[in-house]
Amino acid sequence: MLGLYIHVPFCLSKCPYCDFYSIPLPDDAMLDHYVDAVCRTLRQERARTDEDADTLYFGGGTPSLLGGKRLTRILAEAQRLFRLQEAEITMEANPADELYETFAAFRAAGGNRVSLGMQSVSADGLRRLGRRHTPAQLEVAIRDLSRADIRNFSLDLMLATPGQTPTDIENAVSFAAAAGASHLSAYLLKLEPGTPFYAAADTLALPDEDAVAAYYLLACREAEAAGYRQYEISNFAKPGCESRHNLKYWNSDDYIGIGPAAHSAVSGQRYHYPRSLDAFLAGCKPEIDRDDEIPTGSPAEYAMLRLRLTDGLQADLFEQRFGKPLPPEWRENAAALPSSLVTVSPADIALTRDGFLLSNTLIAEILWK
Ligand code: SF4
Repeated sequence: MLGLYIHVPFCLSKCPYCDFYSIPLPDDAMLDHYVDAVCRTLRQERARTDEDADTLYFGGGTPSLLGGKRLTRILAEAQRLFRLQEAEITMEANPADELYETFAAFRAAGGNRVSLGMQSVSADGLRRLGRRHTPAQLEVAIRDLSRADIRNFSLDLMLATPGQTPTDIENAVSFAAAAGASHLSAYLLKLEPGTPFYAAADTLALPDEDAVAAYYLLACREAEAAGYRQYEISNFAKPGCESRHNLKYWNSDDYIGIGPAAHSAVSGQRYHYPRSLDAFLAGCKPEIDRDDEIPTGSPAEYAMLRLRLTDGLQADLFEQRFGKPLPPEWRENAAALPSSLVTVSPADIALTRDGFLLSNTLIAEILWK
C-alpha cells in the first residue's frame, strides 16, 4: 500500500542549519486556506492511483502548528479517500509549543505516532543550534504525549553539532530510553549551502572528521545498549517500532507527497510540488522529475535504498521483486571491499556500521564500479 506525506511548511522561527522548505507562520485564514489546498490535492492524487494508504506522515516545517481542528480535517479527508486502515499516522512536533490539546485532537482523529525534534538535552547545545525549546519544555511535551495516550513516539537527536561532547550524546540517548521513546533518529549535522551555519562554518567549533565518526559510532553503541536496534543508517527502534512510513522510502515503495516541496514516487514516476506556498495554494500541478539518472523503481534504485538498511540488499526479496537474481557484478564489487565495511553472503549484501560512515562511496562502488 501507499504512504502519504503531507508537508506543513510553517515554523515560528528558522533554525540556522535548516534548508527544508519552511516559512513564517501565517494567520488563521491562511492556515485554513492551506488545509483546503491539501484536501483538494488529496482528492486529485486519489485519481492517479487505485492503491489505498497504510501510512500517513505530517512533516515540516512544524505540522503541530496547524492545531487539532485543521489536522483533524486533513486526516478525515485522507481516511475517506485512502482508507488508512490500521495505518501508522505520524506527526512531527516542536517541543517548544503548548502541545497537549493538539496531541489530544490528533489522537482522537486517529493519529498514533509523534516525532519530537529533541535534537539535544543540553540547554547550551540547544541554544547553539538556535532551537526554540529548552530541556524542561521537552519534558513537558513528553508528559503531554502520555496524557494524550500517544505511546509510540520518536525523538530526533543531532550529532556532531557545535560544541557537542560525548557526554551530551550519552545523556541524550539515556534520556530517550528513560522517557520511553520507541524510536530514535540520530542524524549528523550537515552544513547546507544557503544556511547561516554554512556561511559561519569556520566559527562554529564543529568536530573534525575523526570526531564526527566517533560521535556517530558512540550514538549507535549507546542506542543499542539502551535497547534500540539500528535498522537504518540514522534510525533505531525498539522491537516492532520501526517507522513503517520511512521504510517505504527505503524499500522503494510508492508514496505520495502533498504540499510545497513534497516529493512523490508512484508507479515508476517521480514528481514534486515546487518550493512555493503561493504556487501550491493556486493549485499548481506537480512537476515530473525528468533528470533521474537512476530510473524510479529500477533494480539500481531499489539496491541503493536497501543498502541504507542494516538488513541490506536481500537476494530473495530482490528476486521476488524483479524476477531475476542479484547481478553477480554487485556481489563481486562488494566482495572486493573490506569486510569491515561491507558483508557479502549468498543471502545478502549489507554495509556494516563503519561502512555506513562511507555509505555514498560504498554504494557507488558496489552498484556502478
Ligand atoms: S523547526 Fe524544523 S523545519 Fe522548522 S526551521 Fe527548525 S529544523 Fe527547520
